[in-house]
Amino acid sequence: MPHQKLFSEIPSVDEILKSAYGIEWLRDYPRKIILKSIRGVLEQKRKEILNGLTPRLDIDRISPEIVNAIRLNSSYKLTPLINATGVIIHTNLGRSVLSDKAIENIARTAGSYSNLEYDLKKGKRGKRYSHIKEVLRELSGAEDALVVNNNAAAVLLCLNTFAKEREVVVSRGELVEIGGSFRIPEVMKASGAILREVGTTNKTHLADYENALCGEAALLLKVHQSNYKVMGFTEEVTAEELVKLGRQYKIPVMADIGSGCMVDLAKYGVSGEPTVQQIIKAGVDIVTFSGDKLLGGPQAGIILGREKLIQKIQKNPLLRAMRIDKLSLAALEATMMQYIDEDRAVREVPTLRMLTEPLESIRRRAGRIYNLLKKTIGSKAAIEIKKDLSRAGGGSLPEIDFPTFVVLFKPFKIPVSKIEGNLRDGTPPVIVRVKDNAILFDARTLQDREVRTLIDCVKTAVA
Ligand SMILES: *Cc1c(COP(=O)(O)O)cnc(C)c1O
Repeated sequence: MPHQKLFSEIPSVDEILKSAYGIEWLRDYPRKIILKSIRGVLEQKRKEILNGLTPRLDIDRISPEIVNAIRLNSSYKLTPLINATGVIIHTNLGRSVLSDKAIENIARTAGSYSNLEYDLKKGKRGKRYSHIKEVLRELSGAEDALVVNNNAAAVLLCLNTFAKEREVVVSRGELVEIGGSFRIPEVMKASGAILREVGTTNKTHLADYENALCGEAALLLKVHQSNYKVMGFTEEVTAEELVKLGRQYKIPVMADIGSGCMVDLAKYGVSGEPTVQQIIKAGVDIVTFSGDKLLGGPQAGIILGREKLIQKIQKNPLLRAMRIDKLSLAALEATMMQYIDEDRAVREVPTLRMLTEPLESIRRRAGRIYNLLKKTIGSKAAIEIKKDLSRAGGGSLPEIDFPTFVVLFKPFKIPVSKIEGNLRDGTPPVIVRVKDNAILFDARTLQDREVRTLIDCVKTAVA
């Protein structure tokens, strides 16, 4: 058997560890990671031999492979990347990028003890929710505020608090699936509430709600349609009308508005999303939304509304299971403080900045990318700047196109799919849009400080 001879040439783990390479690795990396990497590479060699190959087996030859394995095994699996897709709130890519202020506040709070649940004035136990309450009230106009882990938790908690074993009236046009298996009927079931659907997919009238109120209804619920839009022959009941009805029948009205925009984007030419302030002003009793969609903060579920109702939620034992952690709280407080000066929020909160960035400024960034690509790899691909459209993403503003500039990249020899894969495989990975057999880099979701890195990554991907 020719195998046998080759197998006997495989160096032992111990031999490799005691070699000059091994000694060097042991200086820089944990022993466990080195062992795992050596074993992995040796296993690979055994497989190659079994497959009839004759790999070189001396330590000098296999050490580069072990180094690669060590690097891979000691790197983090969760890693930053460059989002060139033009989808601003990209759920798969971590939704909102935090502002510098939020990041600083996480670091500041994480590295030391804090008054998370301690009342410094009274010198005794306090509530983690109290830190954020004031700023949320001031910004939104709501009576009271509470923050949990995410909006899905917020909705579940509210339904469970106000409507367990009782009916919640919802329009059939709002029984949506957000993605990631968050579906209103199923959340309702999990909360213990009973779904009472009214109206039709395209039209729901005030009378439909009213007819459902004679029985056991505990809550009127309005849900943001998130990532889809009903168009054409449609009718929905406004928050104001629903509030009026709720008052008449003494039934609270809740709105899950999904994104929770706190800046009137109409000023920046982006219409179609009511602000949190408008919903509160309409008199809705309980409003829930995400912290990391249009708000541009950390993952969180924000609940605003009447003081009496918020206090009732605070007594629900489920709250403990959904509580926000201190790092998210630190990030959220810093982000909300930025909103006190709206112009500043628009400049400094990345999600808002990307949503409102003037086209001219996007064009400049695209121009910079274009020039650098032309200079470094212009001989390997056709490169041009084109007008295109970005998306808000995250189920926000689904029907709105954001005009943008992309750098279009069409390699002469290497297939587009190969380069797309290489970019994904890079350090850092670059995620792009592929359209009409070309790679698009959307300048809207690229940060100025990422441009140099992006160019290096493209250079490597086509090499
Ligand atoms: C996104 C969304 C949710 C879920 O929010 P998470 O913060 O992702 O948990 C719930 N409802 C609506 C309408 C949404 O758009």
